[in-house]
Amino acid sequence: MRLLLIHTGGTIGMAEGPDGLQPQPGLVEAAMADRLPEATTLLTHVFSPLLDSADVGPQHWNEMLDAITAHPDLPVIITHGTDTMAFTGAALAQALAGENRCIILCGSMVPLGEGGDAEENLTLAITAACAGGSGVALAFAGRLMPAGGLVKHDSRAHDAFRSLPQDAAVPPRSRRFDTRRFGVLTLSPGMPADLIAASLSVLDGAVLRVFGSGTAMNNPAILSALREAVASGKRIRAVSQCEAGGLEPGAYAAGAGLWSTGVENGGRQTPEAALIHLWLT
Ligand code: ASP
Repeated sequence: MRLLLIHTGGTIGMAEGPDGLQPQPGLVEAAMADRLPEATTLLTHVFSPLLDSADVGPQHWNEMLDAITAHPDLPVIITHGTDTMAFTGAALAQALAGENRCIILCGSMVPLGEGGDAEENLTLAITAACAGGSGVALAFAGRLMPAGGLVKHDSRAHDAFRSLPQDAAVPPRSRRFDTRRFGVLTLSPGMPADLIAASLSVLDGAVLRVFGSGTAMNNPAILSALREAVASGKRIRAVSQCEAGGLEPGAYAAGAGLWSTGVENGGRQTPEAALIHLWLT
């Protein structure tokens, strides 16, 4: 059997440097080779340079997708930092919807060789990839989780992720990430309207994290900044600041102004999933 490893970077393959943990070439490939079942051949695509996932962005999602597409029949393991794993999980889950690929994301909170979670997570990823199946999943802390709605809820614990149910991803309009500029904006009490207007002026669209089941402050300047952006063709996709439960337009009068601006209802999407949705649909 043949497996493709896409090694992007992340703690799993890091070692201490002068400013803290930094990627260390070769660690992940060696640990994978030690754990492969007999008669398994490993093909590798290693990012250069290796990245802390803080630096992963749309062009790196395209690089992962290109490597996956170039090996149409192989199960794939992607080693990746945990900090932006939820974005990459959403990016690959939505970009590959309907493609029947087995993609296993893997990372760790402690580097390989330090008695932490890395070895166990890597072994789980290999077992899952060898078993085949279809979809994009994260192998972490003893569990395989659908990667389209990941939340990194703990910055230290080994069991750092949960996966929130998302609506089934439909095959996207595009499977590539273009150069449009999107960002995630979070409403907060007292936020100046100018901040929202200025942010929207430099973006092609945005995810807007609103309150609860879909309310926003009844501030005419904020509402008109949203309305004008939508009228100019920018998509603004609302999601809740609550982790679960999603949005319910019409539940509160305090949401009436917000929904009248033309913002999209992101339902129960995570902010990460909503951001990727803007790019691909
Ligand atoms: N800063 C690291 C990263 O995201 C954290 C990790 O991998 O756990 O690349």
